[in-house]
Amino acid sequence: PQALEITSLRKTYKGGVEALKGLTLTVQKGDFYALLGPNGAGKSTTIGIITSLVNKSAGHVRIFGYDLDSHLELAKSQVGLVPQEFNFNQFETVLQIVVQQAGYYGVKSNIAHERAKIHLTRLGLWEKRNQRSRDLSGGMKRRLMIARALMHNPQLLILDEPTAGVDIELRRSMWEFLRELNEQGVTIILTTHYLEEAEMLCRHIGIIDRGLLVENTTMRALLSKL
Ligand code: ADP
Ligand code: ADP
Repeated sequence: PQALEITSLRKTYKGGVEALKGLTLTVQKGDFYALLGPNGAGKSTTIGIITSLVNKSAGHVRIFGYDLDSHLELAKSQVGLVPQEFNFNQFETVLQIVVQQAGYYGVKSNIAHERAKIHLTRLGLWEKRNQRSRDLSGGMKRRLMIARALMHNPQLLILDEPTAGVDIELRRSMWEFLRELNEQGVTIILTTHYLEEAEMLCRHIGIIDRGLLVENTTMRALLSKL
């Protein structure tokens, strides 16, 4: 199956805003996919639906073949989300945050601790494991969001503006990390305002405008048109 298959997806918010008007898009297994589009286009809504934080109004979403309507838990277990905003408990430590996340997905405690060590080390946070999240720098918080999202070994990782407001050095190291993750087989979808970021990382791009997919192409083909 494909990593993600979205068919005729619609979302009308209470109050009547039609955020998605029949969005159809496919992301292949192993792909590195950029979802681009102007503010208000429907990117966050799409991510919200894939991660089952937002209810869809109509249409279908399948994640590695699991339909959100009929196999919600299996579909959810395939997906990790790195949100745009920090949403940690300020008083919990780095280690508590990631181990707890694993617990939500039923990962056993000893395995969660092994994984925490691996991911926190790779992201340069192992030394900070006993610090409260509120004492971390912005860059560390971003890396912590990635570590947390990986704790249940998702096969699809979705990042909403992962490097917004991040300095160039950290951005480069995050790119390198994401590229490695993708090489290890994790399918990645990200939204970004930095075209350079999509260009550096992504093989395919989809452009959303006013709730519809208006372009679905390879980065190479897009660049040759500019
Ligand atoms: P982005 O920077 O991703 O385009 P927005 O600034 O459009 O995000 O929205 C930020 C958050 O506010 C999102 O979680 C979105 O769902 C929510 N939001 C956006 N527009 C509205 C709205 N009109 N009413 C309520 N919530 C909204
Ligand atoms: P993007 O992420 O591409 O900026 P969004 O998905 O956040 O776009 O928003 C798409 C449209 O839906 C916008 O018009 C936005 O104002 C509206 N919207 C988003 N979230 C909400 C919400 N919670 N309630 C009402 N309208 C919303």
